[in-house]
Amino acid sequence: MGTYAIAILAGDGIGPEVIEQAVRVLQAVADRYGHIFTLTEALVGVAAIDAEGDAISDATMELCQRSDAILFGAVGGSPRFEGPDSKIQPERALFRLRKDLALYANLRPIRPFKALLNASTIKAEILQGTDLLVVRELTGGIYYGKPSEIRETPQGCDAIDTLIYSEAEIERIVRTSFELARDRRKKVTSVDKANVLSSSRLWRRVADRVATNYPEIALEHLLVDSCAMHLIRRPTSFDVIVTENMFGDILTDEASMLAGSMGMLPSASLGVRRTDHGLFGLYEPIHGSAPDIAGQEKANPIAAILSAALMLRYSFNLKQEADAIEAAVERIVEAGYRTEDLREAGKEVVGTKEMGRLIAETIRG
Ligand code: NAD
Repeated sequence: MGTYAIAILAGDGIGPEVIEQAVRVLQAVADRYGHIFTLTEALVGVAAIDAEGDAISDATMELCQRSDAILFGAVGGSPRFEGPDSKIQPERALFRLRKDLALYANLRPIRPFKALLNASTIKAEILQGTDLLVVRELTGGIYYGKPSEIRETPQGCDAIDTLIYSEAEIERIVRTSFELARDRRKKVTSVDKANVLSSSRLWRRVADRVATNYPEIALEHLLVDSCAMHLIRRPTSFDVIVTENMFGDILTDEASMLAGSMGMLPSASLGVRRTDHGLFGLYEPIHGSAPDIAGQEKANPIAAILSAALMLRYSFNLKQEADAIEAAVERIVEAGYRTEDLREAGKEVVGTKEMGRLIAETIRG
């Protein structure tokens, strides 16, 4: 039994709809196992810009610093803040959280449920047995490197972005991936572009060095283009994949298709701060605010619910409780319940709230 402080940042569009169901499931866990989850809600994204003048306020940042973990929905989706001339972007909330809270490791587990193998565009026999974890570096690389600008020249414009990594940045993310592989099938695939990029050559050198501390774990190197192909050709051959920020961004969206719907995939972003319970982290579904289906009871809350399970596992060390959420989701999907995004002949389509209720009731037993 324990008391855990969680900041709830539901955000925009379907964010609040799916987070409401994740909270419902957390309440079921609290009831069954006797924990206390202290939940404090705050605004992010468009909602925060309208009410507080920024995508995330200093007060909300302080709330996050004080919490043991953050449960995040999604931000964006308003035409008022889209386009190159918009002064404030709702997504700034996420960038600030990642950077200021040093959330350097983004984890995306992908394990398609048996009952949903046919929901993917990839053949079921290729998918069967897939169970991989992508570990993406989140606070460095080309998305943060300076200079990054468009420059006027007498011959027209030039543009520059900078891909820079320090040895220390590479070492901590590679080390994280090896630690995670220890509890899994003991294989790490390090993805780079070492045949072209200097940053990748340093990456590979550091990965080889880290590997010497983990003799029980097999390390393979793959070029990012080759990895993109193998992900859909032989997904079962991967255990833990570790890669830099931009490669990870692209590969994780590709890998998400293995699970059938964006509405199924959770993520964890872990930092360096330790709380009384474990590692501080931010947990969110990988999808966005989906304005096309917001307010229609069509959003699949499973990605948000599975994100709450990751929070219990990685930030609170509540492994049994995390397993209970994942088992409940699997049971409900196996029983034939589907949200609109997974509509299938012969299966019962339910709304966002009903899906959350079914999963919460399964946990209560
Ligand atoms: P999206 O992920 O919101 O939606 C893509 C498609 O998937 C849509 O057709 C949507 O209806 C569907 N979808 C997404 N989540 C679903 C769910 N849980 N259940 C059922 N269907 C689901 O991506 P987008 O449409 O490119 O972006 C919409 C807005 O979200 C944009 O403003 C974008 O910037 C923002 N965004 C935010 C985040 C985030 O907050 N982390 C991530 C991606 C996009």
